[in-house]
Amino acid sequence: MNRAQSIISLQTQPHWDILVIGGGATGLSCALDAASRGYKTLLVEKNDFAKGTSSRSTKLVHGGVRYLAQGNIRLVREALHERGRLIRNAPHVCTRKAFVVPCYKWWHAWYYGAGLWLYEFLSGKWSLGPTRLLSVKNTLKHLPSLSAQQLRGGILYFDGCFDDTRLAINLAQTAAEQGATVLNYAGVTSFVKEKGSITGACVYDSIGGHTYTVKAKAVINATGVFADELLKLAENKAMETIVPSQGIHLVADKRFFSGDAALMIPETDDKRVLFAVPWHDKVLLGTTDTFMDHIAEEPTALPSEVDFVISHINRYLSVPLSRGDISSVFAGLRPLAKNKGAGKTSVMPRDHQVEVLASGLIHVTGGKWTTCRSMAEHALDRAAKHAGLPPAPCRTRNLRIHGWCATMHEADHLAIYGADAAGIRQLMEQDEKWSTPIHKNYPYTAAEVLWMVRHEMAITTEDILSRRLRLLFLDAAAAVEAAPVVTRILADELQQNSNWMEEQLARFNEVAKGYMLL
Ligand code: FAD
Repeated sequence: MNRAQSIISLQTQPHWDILVIGGGATGLSCALDAASRGYKTLLVEKNDFAKGTSSRSTKLVHGGVRYLAQGNIRLVREALHERGRLIRNAPHVCTRKAFVVPCYKWWHAWYYGAGLWLYEFLSGKWSLGPTRLLSVKNTLKHLPSLSAQQLRGGILYFDGCFDDTRLAINLAQTAAEQGATVLNYAGVTSFVKEKGSITGACVYDSIGGHTYTVKAKAVINATGVFADELLKLAENKAMETIVPSQGIHLVADKRFFSGDAALMIPETDDKRVLFAVPWHDKVLLGTTDTFMDHIAEEPTALPSEVDFVISHINRYLSVPLSRGDISSVFAGLRPLAKNKGAGKTSVMPRDHQVEVLASGLIHVTGGKWTTCRSMAEHALDRAAKHAGLPPAPCRTRNLRIHGWCATMHEADHLAIYGADAAGIRQLMEQDEKWSTPIHKNYPYTAAEVLWMVRHEMAITTEDILSRRLRLLFLDAAAAVEAAPVVTRILADELQQNSNWMEEQLARFNEVAKGYMLL
């Protein structure tokens, strides 16, 4: 995956089978599906890959216990099967994790236990392990930080956990290996039409400052919560189909939540579920569901949301958390469907939809990270038919994702790179300076930054610290401290001057403010 090569493809190949707009979970999965079927595929992303909702998830590869409570059995079963495929195809980024639901009333064990038994049953051959009841002693063994007061036991079940942006980068790499051209910092600014039907788009490369006109037999809109802007361009009329709902996460030190299992709180005051998930040596707490009146590229957590998560989690912890213990906070936006005519909002089922609009634009919405593969399969079936492309079967069910490796040799933080860890180690062995950590409290090395510039299309300080290394999501203050070192490595590798470095740092520090609880 190389940006200079992608730009050359854009300049030299004006005709494509499939153009995918948006480089989040949905768009990247569509590009991978299309390229692996043999279609000539171009994916363009206005920002960096996964800059939108796809970097801001709860990091669960799951069927959705909550949707089970809503009676949506088909959705849960499909997601559980996709969970199994994802863990099999990308074992270096998606792993099995034990979850525990603590029980404080006698009926909790039976009520939640029955639901979680059904949850496991629905996963069929993709089961990650049996659901079972735990004694008080065993509950505390799995969740040592849990308050023991009035605890009656717990339920143990298994689900998946992942690093969303590492998977996004690996999906982009896999798509490129399958022949797709993928490009970050390249946004669609208008559509090309013939007799009212979309036949291509104008793409602005914000790094090079050029606009390219590309033709495609099918154009897929995978812009998530930003979709209305594209719909307006495509259909020549104002379209307001989406209302954003925000979900936030807080990240705290692992000492507040020891042990390896995750905690699932089955019912919050607003009838949602809340998770505490061990993630990269920290604990991630969330999430919320708050209607917002605008769509921001960098949404920020509301004080009321922060208080909600802290107050709920403190009901379960033996040592309570305070705002000062939070090392990072991040927010993401869900696209909720706006009811036609009524001007009201309703929760869009986390099921996906694929529509071919009057302009011919193929519009993909909904779904979740866990089901992005099946969503893409459905979208490409429709797109190929619509464009009259030669039929080709979907090949992603068993397709290994970049970095796949049979056995994880790395016991350290490099394990997340899977097969690429060997390349990073080689860089470290070549020159001692690449083994230097970029921050005194974290294991991340200069070699990883170099690797990300050379192999993962990282261009800015934010690309590295936010979506490649995740330090901004784990510890915002440490990310700000590491930014000058990271920017220097980037500048040397990309041959940029001191003005560029100053600009990068200023931009990154501005973004980082939104991840700190002041
Ligand atoms: P996005 O990731 O938003 O991608 C759309 C992309 O389009 C953006 O990168 C944007 O920059 C780009 N774009 C916009 N306009 C243009 C343009 N003109 N040209 C080019 N590109 C453009 N799912 C799970 O499976 N597990 C979870 O634990 C989970 N937790 C979640 C928690 C929260 C709080 C939220 C909000 C969602 C969660 N989800 C989870 C759902 C999952 O994150 C989303 O379904 C998924 O990330 C949506 O991806 P997307 O590609 O559709 O949208």
